[in-house]
Amino acid sequence: MNEQSSSGAAPGAARITPADVLLPSGTAAGAVPVRLVREGADAAAETGDALGAAWLDAVRFTPAAKKQALVPSVEGRVTGVVLGGGNGAAGEPSGPSDLLAGQLAQSLPAGTYRLGAGFAEPRLAALAWGLGAYRYRRYKSSNGDPPPALSLPDGLAREEILNEVEAVWLGRDLINTPASDLGPAEIDAAARALAARHGAAAEVIVGDALLDRNFPLIHAVGRASDRAPRLIDITWGRKGARRVTLVGKGITFDTGGLDIKPSSGMLLMKKDMGGAATVLALGHMIMGQRLDVELRILIPSAENSIAGNAFRPSDVIRSRDGRTVEIGNTDAEGRLVLADALAYAGEGTGEAAGGAGDVLVFATLTGAARVALGPDLPAFFTDDDAFAARVGAAGERIGDPVWRMPLWPGYERFLDSEVADMNNVYDAPFAGAVTAALFLRRFARNAARFAHFDLYGWRPAARPLGPKGGEPQTARAVFEALKQECGR
Ligand SMILES: [Zn+2]
Repeated sequence: MNEQSSSGAAPGAARITPADVLLPSGTAAGAVPVRLVREGADAAAETGDALGAAWLDAVRFTPAAKKQALVPSVEGRVTGVVLGGGNGAAGEPSGPSDLLAGQLAQSLPAGTYRLGAGFAEPRLAALAWGLGAYRYRRYKSSNGDPPPALSLPDGLAREEILNEVEAVWLGRDLINTPASDLGPAEIDAAARALAARHGAAAEVIVGDALLDRNFPLIHAVGRASDRAPRLIDITWGRKGARRVTLVGKGITFDTGGLDIKPSSGMLLMKKDMGGAATVLALGHMIMGQRLDVELRILIPSAENSIAGNAFRPSDVIRSRDGRTVEIGNTDAEGRLVLADALAYAGEGTGEAAGGAGDVLVFATLTGAARVALGPDLPAFFTDDDAFAARVGAAGERIGDPVWRMPLWPGYERFLDSEVADMNNVYDAPFAGAVTAALFLRRFARNAARFAHFDLYGWRPAARPLGPKGGEPQTARAVFEALKQECGR
C-alpha cells in the first residue's frame, strides 16, 4: 500500500481526505446549522421558529442520545439539523455528547454544515465529525455519495484536528486492507512513506538478514510465508530529548501457524497488524504536531503461515537477548516477534536503568483481553500509576477509552518451561492477557516506563466515531497523554 492507494478511494475516483470533510472556518455561508440538544431541553422551542418547532413535534423528536432529525423549510430545503445529546455525557463509547457529532458525518445528506447551539466542546465535535466521515471504498466500483462536510468554527486549530483525523484514517486503511494486498512489504512501504513525509529515518531488516542480525524469533514466526518477515525501525526527533519508543505488532495475517485457528477465529486475522497500524497512527500525530521527543517506532512484521518449514509447537528458540523460549503454541506468535523488537529497543541506551525511556507496546495480542473487556475497551498494563491515570482519563474524555489490568507478579510462574528459560504460553485458560503482558515485560529492559496496550483493532458495528471495521484504538488516548506530559 502506498499513500495514493490508501484512504479508501475507489478505482478511478478522487480520494476523499479529511480536508474535504473538515473545511476551514469562514466557508460557512449557506452552511446548515446543527444543534445539540440535551435531555430536559425543549427541542422544538430551541429551533427558534414555528415551522421547525411544529416539524420536530410532528416527527416526535426527543433529545435522547443519538436521535436526530432534519428540519425543512417551506421550500423543502434542509435548514437545520437537531441531534439528541442525552444527558450530556452519552458519547459512545465514552466522553461528552459532543462526540455524537460523528454520527452525523455518517448519516446526513451530502452538503456543508456548521456547529450551531449546544456544542460545549467544538474541538471534540469537529474531531468526531472527521472520524465519523471515514469510509473504506478501495474495492468499491464507485465512491458513493460524498460525506457531509463541516465548516469549522472560528478559533480551532484545523491543522491539528486534520492531523489526528488523518492519522486514524491511515490506521483504519491499513487494518481494513486484506492480507492479499497488505503483507510485511506493504507495511514496510506505508511506514517508509510516513517516515519520508516527516523527514524521519527508516531502516528495515528483511528476511534472512534477520538471522544475520540476530532477530531469531521474528524470523521463526515469519519464515513459512513466501512474504519475507522484517523489522521496521523509524527514528525521528531531537537527539537528547525524552525517548519514546513505540513497538507495534505487525502480523499481517495470522493463521495461527501449525496450531491453526478455526475458521471463525481466522476470519478477521487481517487485523492482526492492528498494533502496527496504531503505532503508525500515533507516530503521525507525534511527528505531525512536533512533540519534543526522540521518537522511535519499531514494527516487527510477519505473516504467520503454514508450510513445511513452519515453526512447531515444542520447538525451542533462542531469542535475541539470549534467553530460550519454548513454543507452547504457535498462535501466540505476536509476543515472540515483539520480544525481539523489545530487546532491540533496550540496546544502545547506555545499559542505564531507564535509559530506554518510554517503551510502549501496542498489539492485538490476546483473546483473553476481549473476554475480559469486550471489543470497545482495550486492556493496558503498566507499572506507572501516574501514566495509567493520565491515559485512562484522557482516553475516556475523547472517546478512546482504555482499562488498566494488572502486571500480576504471582503469575510469572505461568510462563515456566521444563526445557527452556520460559514458555510462550500458559496451558490453562486463566489470565491469558496478564501472562502475555508479563512475557513482554521480561524483554523490555532499561525502560523508564513500560506500558502494553492489548487492543482489538476493530469496531464490530458502526458507532458515532466510525464505521464498522479497523480502528487504531488507543492511539488518540496515548497521544493526548503524551501531549500533556510534553506541556502541550
Ligand atoms: Zn496468533
